[in-house]
Amino acid sequence: MALKANTVTPTKKIIVHSVSDPLPRAHYQRCPQCDTLFMLPVMKSHQSAYCPQCEAKIRDGRDWSLTRLGAMAIAMLLLMPFAWSEPLLRVYLLGIRIDANVLQGIWQMKEMGDPITAAMVLFCTVGAPLVLVCAIAYLWLGNVLGMNLRPVLLMLDKLKEWVMLDIYLVGIGVAAIKVQDYAFIQPGIGLLAFICLMLLSILTLIHLNIEQLWERFYPTRPATRAHDNLRVCLGCHFTGLPDERGRCPRCHIPLRLRRRHSLQKCWAALIASLIFLLPANLLPISIIYLNGGRQEDTIFSGIMSLASSNIAVAAVVFVASILVPFTKVIVLLTLLISIHFKWAYGLRLRINLLRMVIWIGRWSMLDLFVISLTMSLINRDQLLAFTMGPAAFYFGAAVILTILAVEWLDSRLLWDAHESGNARFDDGSAN
Ligand SMILES: [Zn+2]
Ligand SMILES: [Zn+2]
Repeated sequence: MALKANTVTPTKKIIVHSVSDPLPRAHYQRCPQCDTLFMLPVMKSHQSAYCPQCEAKIRDGRDWSLTRLGAMAIAMLLLMPFAWSEPLLRVYLLGIRIDANVLQGIWQMKEMGDPITAAMVLFCTVGAPLVLVCAIAYLWLGNVLGMNLRPVLLMLDKLKEWVMLDIYLVGIGVAAIKVQDYAFIQPGIGLLAFICLMLLSILTLIHLNIEQLWERFYPTRPATRAHDNLRVCLGCHFTGLPDERGRCPRCHIPLRLRRRHSLQKCWAALIASLIFLLPANLLPISIIYLNGGRQEDTIFSGIMSLASSNIAVAAVVFVASILVPFTKVIVLLTLLISIHFKWAYGLRLRINLLRMVIWIGRWSMLDLFVISLTMSLINRDQLLAFTMGPAAFYFGAAVILTILAVEWLDSRLLWDAHESGNARFDDGSAN
């Protein structure tokens, strides 16, 4: 159930809560995305609130208790060894059975001489889910033992988009269709465990309400009076005045008016990813050795050959590997230029574009997952082998850099530029 926050006064209806479920009183809050100051009324625990200016989600009504999250974490931990080391796919290639699992694919990448690309795949498929489980366990244990939970809560907020099990599952499907041309393919036992792990991780991420965990572990008096100096913390989304050391009173990271060096960092990551995208698309990303011959494929030619057998899968890979990275770079470039030149128009469209690239950005990793799996499936040494080309590293680096560029861009700068652009426009029309 959605509730729109009131900009001026709190709602007249005061909702009474039981003592066991303490919720904050009506208080002032700044939107972390557009910096609008508004009054957030007293809310029920299942209600969500959206910013009155930019419609960013300020408060999420979905919330699971730490016990339930802990149960999910244990279930995920039990599934992990099976999901990662049991065969996901099984092929019969030239009379020999070959199994492929997550770790084997990553190992194969490392063996082929590209440990950095292997590390990227390892982090998104194994590292991030493992960190998620460990972080929940730490919260549960730390809560009992009274340890400092702040670093873990801050980290969990950033971790969400790096858990890419759902993308890997699509990668398994694409790899299976790709391999069909060469060999007879069957699903393995690990696939079931992997699907369960993916579903549990998605459920956990949806119901892991970090905002409410902050409120539960570190209850801090919210601002009850409107004040111009109120600042919103980008780490824990608390709105308040900085303490004597200029830090957020709740999570203790520096409470700044705007993210420091946001534009410089975003430009740097964007330019670097643009440079990496060139070799990523021009150099071969996969090499197939067939009967002594060597056939190289770039991202685009790989999609073209896939299109001849299955047009739908080719379209998925095209969107993930070509359309998404380039759209992301173009959108970020437009946003940065609009901030520099203080554009006063199209703000709503730009905000929506930014949200879209945040949402779709991680799907670009799909191609690397497909390559990692295919490499361990098609491997019969001299007779038939599939390896990755030099483009894989550049591609992975470009994808990660664009994710970081979005992360570093302070969206409030768009609103600042819009405001000063409007002021300039007003001056011009007055004269
Ligand atoms: Zn807003
Ligand atoms: Zn904070």
